[in-house]
Amino acid sequence: MRDQNCIFCKIANGEIPSAEVYEDELFRVILDMGPASRGHALILPKEHFKDVCELEEPYASRVLALGGKIGDAMKKGLGCTGFNLVQNNGKSAGQTVFHFHMHVIPRYDDNAPIVSWTPGSASPEELQETAAQIKSCL
Ligand code: AMP
Ligand code: ZN
Repeated sequence: MRDQNCIFCKIANGEIPSAEVYEDELFRVILDMGPASRGHALILPKEHFKDVCELEEPYASRVLALGGKIGDAMKKGLGCTGFNLVQNNGKSAGQTVFHFHMHVIPRYDDNAPIVSWTPGSASPEELQETAAQIKSCL
């Protein structure tokens, strides 16, 4: 299904032009208009899913392999030495466009970290309690 009001549905289906990197029957991969690094790409399913929790087959089982394929091509074509696969779910996680997408962000040796955090601390008891809270909802 597509959402008539969704810009990524329009881009994924070729209604709005984009800097296209790849297309198949399920996905279109385009360059991000506000790149975190040179070559920053977005993998867009052609159907509308709000986030990873809604993502259906066959998209779900294909998207990670496609991320690897695009990242590999970036290493060969752009000379990056690594890449981040980033996928935000929900406003609090930084999602701004509510059509599932996976970022493929090329990393070069002189880049500052993009995906990083300061490690916190938790006691073994806290970890067990937190794990139990998640487990009870699976
Ligand atoms: P997120 O914060 O994970 O929702 O990422 C949304 C990304 O989409 C941002 O990196 C934007 O720069 C990018 N973006 C938004 N609109 C467009 C567009 N029309 N074409 C290309 N990239 C876009
Ligand atoms: Zn959409």
